[in-house]
Amino acid sequence: MGEAPAFFIDNFQGNISNELNLNSKGYVTTIDVSCNKTYVIGATEKESTPTFEIQILDKSTNKWVIPIVFGTKPKPSKGFSAISLDEDRILVIKGNSSSDDCFWFLEVNTAFVREQKTRLGTEVASWSKGVIGEAEKPIVISGPSGVGKGTLISKLMEEFPSMFGFSVSHTTRAPRNNEQNGVNYHFTERSIMEKDINDGKFLEFADVHGNLYGTSIEAVDVVADGGKRCILDIDVQGARSVRASSLEAIFIFICPPSFEELEKRLRIRGTETEEQIQKRLRNAKAELEQGKSPALFDHILVNDNLDTCYENLKKLLGLSDGIKISQKSELVVHVPLEHTVSRIDQKIVINCGGSELEKSAINSFALDLSSIKGGAPGRTRGLNIYVMGTKISS
Ligand code: ADP
Ligand code: 5GP
Repeated sequence: MGEAPAFFIDNFQGNISNELNLNSKGYVTTIDVSCNKTYVIGATEKESTPTFEIQILDKSTNKWVIPIVFGTKPKPSKGFSAISLDEDRILVIKGNSSSDDCFWFLEVNTAFVREQKTRLGTEVASWSKGVIGEAEKPIVISGPSGVGKGTLISKLMEEFPSMFGFSVSHTTRAPRNNEQNGVNYHFTERSIMEKDINDGKFLEFADVHGNLYGTSIEAVDVVADGGKRCILDIDVQGARSVRASSLEAIFIFICPPSFEELEKRLRIRGTETEEQIQKRLRNAKAELEQGKSPALFDHILVNDNLDTCYENLKKLLGLSDGIKISQKSELVVHVPLEHTVSRIDQKIVINCGGSELEKSAINSFALDLSSIKGGAPGRTRGLNIYVMGTKISS
């Protein structure tokens, strides 16, 4: 066998567990995924900052590999347990944490991870935070520049401020006079954005009218974490990338009533130079062609009269008969340091023990993973909690 990694020895507490013998006391857990790989997940102190480290033992070569790890890492607690799920991900449950931060997935062979393995030619894993409850599908709005996407989105956010949140994109173009950094866009430099793209921080990106634009994973997650439905204003190339990603969304294409009217609106807006207007109009021709693709867009709206188009937008989002209340889970369960975990099909039973401290709390509950959605490079949503057979998450 190859030499064990240093952190593995330093922090080894004699409590190594595996799928068949789970416990939550150690700083290290080993998990067999498929017949030829063992994952070692260890909580360690790196320059006095606690962090999770991953090492893989390839049993066919007896070599240790340190994978490139994507995603936001969980902050480790001293006790955690882990269980392998269907050979593509490992569920890590942090002890002494509540349900809004204790369920994390280490993806080891999902589509995203496989794609990164091929791209980088090395072992890859990715963290994805588990979130209780459903989030409504994000809305992708595309259409040529000047068609009125921003105007329609502003109207929607003004009328339903608690329901919708805007995904703030990154761009390398210069801010317009009325635009605020962090509100309309995150204005950035190409080299910085390219590095972040390479580091897997973006859900999609595209070169649009000579500048780089992109949606960071964080931009979408922040909106969903706030209990709001996310709206993305992105070009057709971006819409295509989102379609191909793990993010389930509704795709809407906004058309102008005519090309002449589009040109008029771009000129009236007065935010671009003549050269830029010409470039945007040239690109609009191709965008209008691609917008007709039913494989890409679920709905096409013509923005002739603004009020009519806005009413049609609300209708297709199911908002014309008054406000829909978005559901958010209120209940938070606590997983103590000492807990045991077992699996029955898609349900993970977490037994929190019955210590004096925990007497008033919930002793055991089941985490249902049958409806999970999303995953790396974003959050894993749709986890449900059952206590005594009753679903308590929305
Ligand atoms: P986009 O975000 O698609 O680039 P904007 O929302 O900035 O487009 O709209 C471009 C211009 O067209 C703005 O000056 C806006 O006020 C105007 N506009 C939007 N919708 C309409 C409409 N239905 N009729 C006339 N003008 C419109
Ligand atoms: P503008 O410069 O007018 O704000 O935007 C130009 C184009 O870029 C618009 O079509 C808009 O939808 C698109 N865009 C804005 N943000 C993004 C993004 O994050 N990704 C992609 N692919 N396109 C974007």
